[in-house]
Amino acid sequence: MIVAEQKPIGEILKKLPEVEKLLVLGCDTCVTVCLAGGEKEVKVMCSAIRMADKKIGEVTGFSIERQCDREFFKEIEAVVKESDAILSLACGAGVQMLSDYFEGKLVIPGLNTHFIGSNEGAGYWLERCLGCGDCMLDITGGICPKTRCSKGLMNGPCGGSENGMCEIDPLNTECGWYLIYERLKKLNMLQNMMTNQPPRDWSRAHDGGPRKLLREDIQP
Ligand code: SF4
Ligand code: SF4
Repeated sequence: MIVAEQKPIGEILKKLPEVEKLLVLGCDTCVTVCLAGGEKEVKVMCSAIRMADKKIGEVTGFSIERQCDREFFKEIEAVVKESDAILSLACGAGVQMLSDYFEGKLVIPGLNTHFIGSNEGAGYWLERCLGCGDCMLDITGGICPKTRCSKGLMNGPCGGSENGMCEIDPLNTECGWYLIYERLKKLNMLQNMMTNQPPRDWSRAHDGGPRKLLREDIQP
């Protein structure tokens, strides 16, 4: 899922224009799971804005299934029309979709979007994938070197790996390549450590404009 967190309330209040009607819009998918922008957070945010020293006439809260999918915008067309501005508690993709769809309506981001990751426990999320477009998890035993290795090495570990920890942060960060080694050992695939991985095809990564994925098989 996409992992995001709320901006500090002081920053949000500074960004908010003093309008007659403000809509606080949540998203019921990724940012609900990471406790940043779901229905509950919308209610808390509405209360915080109402209590703040800000000249905003009316604050309305609403949440939709996904803000990154325009099919869910139909149900909020009326409430958006009534609003002067929207505070979006979605990831960056959601904020942009809203801005595209409701052109001319000011959309303010209420979250900082961080990474694609997993929930590792109460209030703890870990980056797992940077969307490189050239997945090599089959070679590395299901552990991503691009995110789990602090240097993103394709062939590791480097000389800084010690007792399973990474030299970048030896107290808190495991060495990604140590994890890969241990996993490959369990899979009887240690020979993969001996195979030099060629440079990856970074043309499918995030440089060079927005990436697109078009599935020909589901085109109308
Ligand atoms: S190799 Fe690329 S696609 Fe696969 S998990 Fe890592 S970043 Fe994501
Ligand atoms: S110690 Fe391990 S995780 Fe850290 S940079 Fe070296 S190979 Fe990568």
